[in-house]
Amino acid sequence: MEDFIVSARKYRPATFQQVVGQQSITSTLQNAIKNNQVAQAFLFTGPRGVGKTTCARILAKTINCSNLNKDLEPCNECESCTSFNNSASFNIHELDAASNNSVEDIRTLVDQVRIPPQVGSYKVYIIDEVHMLSQAAFNAFLKTLEEPPAYAKFILATTEKHKILPTILSRCQIFDFRRISVEDISQYLAYVAKNENVNAEEEALHIIAQKSDGALRDALSTFDQIVSYSGDKLSYKNVIENLNILDYEYYFRVTHSIIIGDISQLLLIFNEIIENGFDGQHFITGLNEHFRNLLVIKDPVTIELMLASPSLKEKYRTQADSCPVEMLLKALTTCNKYDLSYKTSNNKRLHVEIALMQLGQLNAEPKTQLTQTSRQTKPEPVAKEQPISYKAEKKTEEKKPEEQELKTEPKKQAAPVRKSVSKPPAEDNGRKIRNISIKDSLDALKRKKEPEDQADEPVIKTKFNQEKLIEIWKSFVESYKTKSPSFSNAIAKYEPVLKEDFIIEYKVDNILIAKDVLNVTSLLEFLKRELNNNQITLKPVLPDKKEAKVAYTDREKFEEMAKKYPGIIKLKEQLNLELEF
Ligand SMILES: [Zn+2]
Repeated sequence: MEDFIVSARKYRPATFQQVVGQQSITSTLQNAIKNNQVAQAFLFTGPRGVGKTTCARILAKTINCSNLNKDLEPCNECESCTSFNNSASFNIHELDAASNNSVEDIRTLVDQVRIPPQVGSYKVYIIDEVHMLSQAAFNAFLKTLEEPPAYAKFILATTEKHKILPTILSRCQIFDFRRISVEDISQYLAYVAKNENVNAEEEALHIIAQKSDGALRDALSTFDQIVSYSGDKLSYKNVIENLNILDYEYYFRVTHSIIIGDISQLLLIFNEIIENGFDGQHFITGLNEHFRNLLVIKDPVTIELMLASPSLKEKYRTQADSCPVEMLLKALTTCNKYDLSYKTSNNKRLHVEIALMQLGQLNAEPKTQLTQTSRQTKPEPVAKEQPISYKAEKKTEEKKPEEQELKTEPKKQAAPVRKSVSKPPAEDNGRKIRNISIKDSLDALKRKKEPEDQADEPVIKTKFNQEKLIEIWKSFVESYKTKSPSFSNAIAKYEPVLKEDFIIEYKVDNILIAKDVLNVTSLLEFLKRELNNNQITLKPVLPDKKEAKVAYTDREKFEEMAKKYPGIIKLKEQLNLELEF
């Protein structure tokens, strides 16, 4: 396998045609050559490993070839070309400014510029990492750059354009090299693999491309490295093992468990991940990325932001179909929160486990049926090697027989809150096992706002009176003080009033209090339980303006006090006091 060690060098592009992912730059350069308008000085900027030096070398070789073909590519046969190919050309001078940045180094280079080329027409000077030149070296170089001989071409390359002096910038034609796309890199790797008779999985190449961060050079050397271990078969498994990447299969499984709300499974998967030697934060970050991908793939507009092979994209799309947007957004927030606080947590394992437990509850929304049916479906545990088939699930939900059932069910006056979870399992007999889809969860959200059907819940209508209501109300206020003092205080301010049909009117200063679904639900559940009546509804009312009026000014305060303690007026009169307000 030793020939693979060199593929990074072997597959370094030798013509403009072969340059990967920099089409606009190569075609501009070729046009300049065609029109004989090659600039005297260039600045190639962009991240490392994206082809700056390669393009500079190809340019040098091309403008020196005495026999360009009709595609303006060097012939590879003439004297200049062969000397280039043997790295023996005298017409190309490369200076790495990172290590040779003194005035002396530049002077040596400038001296060489004076000597015209013996073979070919141009001498090309490539100064790599040009921003590393010392100030003095820059100045020494500037003069040559201002008045270069006609046969001299300068190509300055840098990863940090902002460090280049304006005087230099203004004398160069500037080319911005971009990070090479994952797509381009993996295609090029596929080409290399084919040429080297390596049987490579598409997914494997994609991962290498992704990890190279837009640098083809890095991708090629990673490719070499892994092939030297694993031989002529390059699989996704090889790659993730070598690069120490957590298998995305885990993220699919975790997300599946979140969808069905299976917290135990989540903890087991995480245990497996830890046992495989991955750290918790690595997992959390990866999971967050997974949610991001699911979100991105939902919308055709953002699909291109997703970097993955076509087959993996398909897999994402399938899972995304069963993830409500709302759930994904919450999952992202949760993951992000735990990611940020990971470093400061004392028990890192527990930290991630708590995150997973919270995630496991996110999709509890399309609820009751789910928590129950998921238990019934559980005997199909997610196999380790097998990808989970989400497609099968999708089919069952297309029929949705219970959808109609729901619509025809009589709508009773009931609380605008969730159904209680304790539904007798017998009620589910004859119901088809139900899976989740976005539509279902949207429907569930809608239903939440409408009065909910309670036909399958036994009606309990124990009578109670106003006194009993106030008593229970107060005990809720007491018991809830530690949980939410603000909510507790807000509802303690006014006494609730029992109306017909077990409607309880309660006053709130601010409608936001009534919209605090979580707390209002707790209140309602408490009342239902303590008064043994599941037909109770809560109806928030805003107090009359008069009632709500709070004394603001001093006069108002005085009048308020005077109302309560008429003696104050007498006191004021007896002492002959004047009000100063
Ligand atoms: Zn040639």
